[in-house]
Amino acid sequence: MEKITVIGAGIVGMCTAVALQQRGIAVQVIDEREPGTGTSFGNAGLVSVDSCVPIALPGMIKKVPRWLTDPRGPLSVKPAYFPYALPWLIKWLKSGANEQRAFEKSHALRQLHKDAVSKYSELLGSEYFAEIIKVTGQLYLWENTEKSRMDLLSDRIRKQNGVVARELAGNDIFDLVPGLSRSVKRAELYEKNGYVASPYLLVQRLFKIFTDNGGQFVRQKVMGVTRLADSNAYRILTTSDDMTIRRLVICSGAWSKKVLKGLGVSIPFDTERGYHVSFDRNALDLKIPVLHKERAFGVTPMVDSIRVAGFVEIAGLDALPDMKKEQVLIGLVKHLFPSMDISLKKNFWLGFRPSTPDSLPILSQLDTLPNLYFGFGHGHTGITGAPMSAEILANMVTGTPNTIDVQPYDIKRF
Ligand SMILES: Cc1cc2nc3c(=O)[nH]c(=O)nc-3n(C[C@H](O)[C@H](O)[C@H](O)COP(=O)(O)OP(=O)(O)OC[C@H]3O[C@@H](n4cnc5c(N)ncnc54)[C@H](O)[C@@H]3O)c2cc1C
Repeated sequence: MEKITVIGAGIVGMCTAVALQQRGIAVQVIDEREPGTGTSFGNAGLVSVDSCVPIALPGMIKKVPRWLTDPRGPLSVKPAYFPYALPWLIKWLKSGANEQRAFEKSHALRQLHKDAVSKYSELLGSEYFAEIIKVTGQLYLWENTEKSRMDLLSDRIRKQNGVVARELAGNDIFDLVPGLSRSVKRAELYEKNGYVASPYLLVQRLFKIFTDNGGQFVRQKVMGVTRLADSNAYRILTTSDDMTIRRLVICSGAWSKKVLKGLGVSIPFDTERGYHVSFDRNALDLKIPVLHKERAFGVTPMVDSIRVAGFVEIAGLDALPDMKKEQVLIGLVKHLFPSMDISLKKNFWLGFRPSTPDSLPILSQLDTLPNLYFGFGHGHTGITGAPMSAEILANMVTGTPNTIDVQPYDIKRF
């Protein structure tokens, strides 16, 4: 088969490139940065095979005002960006307007996530898999004793999708994760979930496999993609080149709408910005990732650091980082782990989740754009959803039927 070009060397682009190579296709990847240094660099690294609850749920709209007015809250909207984000925000709220929609979306998330560990094993091979993928379980935590309406709905969604968690209380929680604050009242252990030793290393290992397999990497910024008149080819203009390409996969994460501008593709798509603070590994003795569900942040024991990640900030791609978030994250983790040595802080990072309003990525094609494939929009769960997304995209490219229903990821759903 003729060579294919992938725009974007994040986790989605690199999984897709390797999956295409495994089907015998020559692949070229274009990225303006070093592979794995976009959003795929600084996430919480959670591989959450059991994650199937969409972000927008019925009942959420009532919580939004409280979240927005709490400086430590999980959601913020930059006032100057609000008018631009409004159409996306409305679609986001509507996507969680009723339970039926939430259940439908959850099924599609489940299909994308449930085999993430085995799919990573297929892409990485046994040596890199053992180095990077850690199936330790994840502990979800709450400080409230009572379950909220959204907690109860999330329980029903998980149950319907066959996801089972082990409920923990009292000393069982503190035996599993010593050092946790006694303010934690409830916990659930998701034993099939895990994390990656380092998201950057994960992409770099995939990149090594890609180049060992003869893959070509072009480090250039794509300035525009257009369709050549009366032909099935595309013109890609980069900072220093003008290429004619016949087959193309768009995996440019949060920047995908910009990349697609010249093709007239209109989608409700925005970025949910997120932050992390990392600490030296000695700052905390932690064996498994924990997620504070009320405050919506996670703490992951990576190979070279303890990483605390969270927040959804609606402020677009260009606004400067909100530096106040650093102290908020430090305060949140110190509250959860009172003996943590926060003087061992290393980095503060801002990243850009590529987000559709319904928590599902776009893995699809349009009849009007032959041999062009969309592979972006993984929002909060791109590390988890990337390997299955790569399989779906590689099947689309080769005309192989997919084993799951791919309709929920169609670009035409909006
Ligand atoms: C704080 C935070 C925590 C998260 N935690 C988790 C988690 O625990 N588990 C999980 O599963 N997911 C998590 N996520 C989500 C996950 O990080 C993303 O969904 C995922 O990284 C998206 O991958 P991607 O390959 O689509 O995008 P990216 O990694 O951003 O890759 C896109 C690439 O496209 C390139 N590109 C863009 N435009 C152009 C252009 N014009 N020319 C050339 N190249 C271009 C970029 O340089 C970039 O390298 C988290 C995200 C954040 C922000």
